[in-house]
Amino acid sequence: MTHITRLQDLRHFFDSGATRPAAFRIAQLKAFRSSLRRYEKEIYEALYTDLKKIPEEAWFTENGLLMQEINHTLRHLNGWMQPVGRRTNLVNLPSSSFLLPSPKGVVLIIGPWNFPLQLLLIPLVGAIAAGNTVLVKPSEHAPATAALIEKILTETFPPGLVQVVQGDGITVVPAIMKAFRFDHIFYTGSTAVGRAIAKAAADELTPLTLELGGKDPCVVEADANLKVAARRIVLGKFSNAGQMCVSPDYLLVHATVKDRLLQLIKEQILAFYGENPAEAYGYNKIINEKNFDRLISYLSQGKIVYGGQHDRSQLYIAPSILEEADPDSALMREEIFGPLLPVFTFHNREEALALIRRNPNPLAFYVFTASRKTEREWLEALSFGTAAVNNTALQFTNHHLPFGGVGQSGMGAYHGKNSFDCFTHYKAVMRTPAWFDPALKYPPLKGKLKLLKFLLR
Ligand code: NAD
Repeated sequence: MTHITRLQDLRHFFDSGATRPAAFRIAQLKAFRSSLRRYEKEIYEALYTDLKKIPEEAWFTENGLLMQEINHTLRHLNGWMQPVGRRTNLVNLPSSSFLLPSPKGVVLIIGPWNFPLQLLLIPLVGAIAAGNTVLVKPSEHAPATAALIEKILTETFPPGLVQVVQGDGITVVPAIMKAFRFDHIFYTGSTAVGRAIAKAAADELTPLTLELGGKDPCVVEADANLKVAARRIVLGKFSNAGQMCVSPDYLLVHATVKDRLLQLIKEQILAFYGENPAEAYGYNKIINEKNFDRLISYLSQGKIVYGGQHDRSQLYIAPSILEEADPDSALMREEIFGPLLPVFTFHNREEALALIRRNPNPLAFYVFTASRKTEREWLEALSFGTAAVNNTALQFTNHHLPFGGVGQSGMGAYHGKNSFDCFTHYKAVMRTPAWFDPALKYPPLKGKLKLLKFLLR
């Protein structure tokens, strides 16, 4: 396979030391930023072709986030690259100790189709910032964006620094992983594929970051500001037609406020997308027929109380609300990843927790409440990767917070400094001066037990 021979260029370039100086990394990130500016129009066109994303939305959820990450990294990279001092224990004094941030080597980054630009290229920023060389694998399901990404990256970076491989993941990636040993793999996508990649990576003990999915619960307590909750739930659930790993998957609302909340949610859908979302500026399409068919099959697994209209020829599914879903149905066992919102009521927390725990380790958790105490109790009761209180999804855009899952929803985290750390190995180093070398630690040790007990306690 020709690509595998080219991969050796990534290894040689890394081994040459070219990526070590800060000046090199900064120059690459600046070149990347210029390319993204130059290709802004083409980026909007590609994202519209693949997902009907409008420029405003694309900036807010794709290239704008990428710009934010590049700018933040450029501001802080020099500091992040400095050795980090650590204390030294008594027995080793007068040594000094520090962590030396070092690139991992050649890394593979695999991206999904739902945010086909930023979910692939924000990790790339971290990988370059940390001094790695990179093979990038865009999702074949967003082909316009994948082609443009290849054009931008090959034009911007030397072939020893960044390469792109295209194609169907299941045929391309395992073959590459068999033939070439990566020093880190960063994967964003489904839990099933994540598991397959983890198994393949185990052969070489390749470290992994897995950014996976899950069923993200959204809880609305009786004391929440319902108007604000409705607006933020509709934004998080129906943006990108719900094809978002941090979308609220289903809603758990306190029984006393359910009718009012649903009324407000319906009003909000109308306010955002009008009577006919199919024609609304900014309502996205479903990525392909396979996902469309999967989502349509869910529609029969609950009682549709709003929406439900769909058109396969346009890959359109209206924002829809379902009630009375069976917790054992596929709708409630699989990640929905589309514009369908099942709604459940609860009377007390135990009842709600029992439903949530059927699908453990969600990537994201949302709770709407006016009480700090209630908020805290919810945050402590569940295992999840990331949360927002009185909000949905937008925590993803805050690059000061690490983003990542836990357990079934993934391992590792990135964004901002965490992206740099994700692709960095911190070498732990102790430096001992030669001018002081007392005999007490050296054999013969006879009679030194008391002293050693003092030094190491
Ligand atoms: P996917 O797993 O089908 O594909 C993702 C990537 O993996 C694609 O590039 C694909 O070509 C590649 N791939 C497919 N099979 C492979 C294999 N056997 N070996 C190696 N690579 C392979 O996921 P998707 O459908 O593109 O994305 C949807 C899923 O991703 C959802 O579960 C969603 O929650 C999750 N997701 C997670 C995050 C996050 O940040 N945690 C973000 C977006 C999406």
